[in-house]
Amino acid sequence: MEGKNKHGLSRYIPEEVKREVRRRCGFGCVICGFGFYDYEHFKPDFVDAKVHDPKGMTLLCSQCNQKRARGRLSAHTVEMADRNPKCRQEGFASEMFDFHNAPITVKFAGVKFHNCQHLIVVNEQPILSVKPSEHPDGPMLLSGVFSNSIGQETLLIHENEWHAKTDNWDVECIGARITIRSAPGEFALVIRMEVPGGLVIERLDMLYEGVRIKGNDDILEVSINGGLWHKWQTCSMTNCFTGLSIKSRITAANDSVYEA
Ligand SMILES: [Zn+2]
Repeated sequence: MEGKNKHGLSRYIPEEVKREVRRRCGFGCVICGFGFYDYEHFKPDFVDAKVHDPKGMTLLCSQCNQKRARGRLSAHTVEMADRNPKCRQEGFASEMFDFHNAPITVKFAGVKFHNCQHLIVVNEQPILSVKPSEHPDGPMLLSGVFSNSIGQETLLIHENEWHAKTDNWDVECIGARITIRSAPGEFALVIRMEVPGGLVIERLDMLYEGVRIKGNDDILEVSINGGLWHKWQTCSMTNCFTGLSIKSRITAANDSVYEA
């Protein structure tokens, strides 16, 4: 039957098998650490596999996959990398966001920011910022930090290069979307790229310096030190230096200023 190998094994890989492979590999290509990948049978190859055994499967990005398919990367090297994955060595899987050189739009749960510099600021620390490149043709540069609902960092972004940390419970990258879960069914962050002009934070549940920030497509909610939920819905900001500025502690006159 089409899509099945000679042993009748379908190409469909059960979710729990994929998750086990992702976690063991540190959520990226075992050779180069890229955060977008395919699931590869290497021991044995898919044509000879009788089951989807997570121990005989690994993660390879499309480039490393091509090298393997065209005979420029050996099964031995893949097996060695699978035992000592690049992401596990570095502590993160990484890739780049692709933006054009014109102002970008970030839809951050219920709030849309267009051409803003510091989107959300907590205690004078911007958690998401955008600035133009020094080169006129260079892309807009996004930097930021996301954490889960107990304050552990999940995703760091430095000038468009994102790092998804390997100590997350799960990171899944499919198509243009990064999904980070902190437990089964618990979403810490879902980001979708809208190249080249934007990014959508589809879901979020983070704690940062006592500030809980939760959101979905419809609403952004913020609770400071466990207090009442502040809510923003269908709102947008354009050309702002600072979008939302939140304080969870009293600031001193000599506290740093976040001018980039
Ligand atoms: Zn690779």
